Amino acid sequence: MSARYIDPFEPAQIRRLVERFGSPLMIIDCQRVRAQYRRLQRALPGVDLHYALKPLPHAAVVRTIAAAGGWLDLATTGEVQLVSRLGIDPARCIHSHPIKRDKDIRNALAAGVNLMVADNPDEVRKFRAVRGEAELLLRVSFRSPGAVSDLSRKFGCDPEHALDLARLAARLGIQVRGFSFHVGSQAPNALKHVEAVEACARLLAMARREKLGRCDILDIGGGFPIDYVKRVPDIGRFCAPIRAALGKLPKSVRVIAEPGRYIAGPAAICVATVMGRAERSGLWWYYLDDGVYGSYSGQLYDHGNYPIETLRQGGELKASVLAGPTCDSIDVIAENILLPKLKAGDLIVGRNMGAYTWATASEFNFFPKPTVVSVNEVPGDLGKVEGD
Ligand SMILES: *Cc1c(COP(=O)(O)O)cnc(C)c1O
Repeated sequence: MSARYIDPFEPAQIRRLVERFGSPLMIIDCQRVRAQYRRLQRALPGVDLHYALKPLPHAAVVRTIAAAGGWLDLATTGEVQLVSRLGIDPARCIHSHPIKRDKDIRNALAAGVNLMVADNPDEVRKFRAVRGEAELLLRVSFRSPGAVSDLSRKFGCDPEHALDLARLAARLGIQVRGFSFHVGSQAPNALKHVEAVEACARLLAMARREKLGRCDILDIGGGFPIDYVKRVPDIGRFCAPIRAALGKLPKSVRVIAEPGRYIAGPAAICVATVMGRAERSGLWWYYLDDGVYGSYSGQLYDHGNYPIETLRQGGELKASVLAGPTCDSIDVIAENILLPKLKAGDLIVGRNMGAYTWATASEFNFFPKPTVVSVNEVPGDLGKVEGD
């Protein structure tokens, strides 16, 4: 790390940023975005990493990935507009949503993004009108009930139907560039990735033999896990079996991945402030200005279990309750969390909260989503506010 690097996740810096920008606050450290990107690059050498915007669609993260030489994975017209606004080369982007309206396809093409995904015959037929412009990856489903969210239930065609789908596209004159999959987010191990790589390698070989298109891309999706309260294996070790499986592919196949959580998760923290407290049935309840309708929405939607701590030092630790600000009883962040006795104004920090947190927050009860600050986009450039 450079001498000018200031760690915005240290208590003194957190306090300084909250004084300046208010609470609740999400702090994105672009230095950590770069570090995560490089770690995954080392774990998957030769694989082009397309950051999936979905978990944290923030301009600073997108710019940081682009500046590091990375690629992007878009899924909606809003995400296409975000990267267009930032002037990012559309050739570095793919559009990976398997179900699109015609206008989403046209918007992506107008922005210059022409590699897209389909997973069923109706969707493939939508591309007949834009054949010659758009190219397709066909998404294949590999069920993984063990993943925190099994993305192969909602999307993807059965492996045994993938070749028929490629045949249909070829018959309609649509360029098939290859196959893609997503085994599900926060994968418990790499077994599904390996199974999927091996199956897609066979599909690529068969599709090439039948001359169904260029068939020169394999997209291995996302799912790379990060530490929460529960720790996971180091990414180099996690990816070792994937590296071995990819090593058997023909050299002419370009391999890409769509990491979201791995890039964004550890790169941001969420800071909330105690608004008030009450002792109820012998337990202290602390009410924060952020909760499960805000950044902690990931606890519901993403099954997140974030490491939470207070910046208050000392004091006897007692089982306590952390609650969000809204008037809904479901809005409780943590029960039985060990905390010293807190006061109004004390800060609570949730770590590894970059992915699927702020992105899924609402403004229920008119409690605003956290302000977002990004720091270290240029090393030493501390305290740059979102949107400026
Ligand atoms: C959500 C999503 C990703 C990112 O997945 P992570 O598990 O966060 O890495 C990548 N590709 C597609 C198609 C997605 O829907």
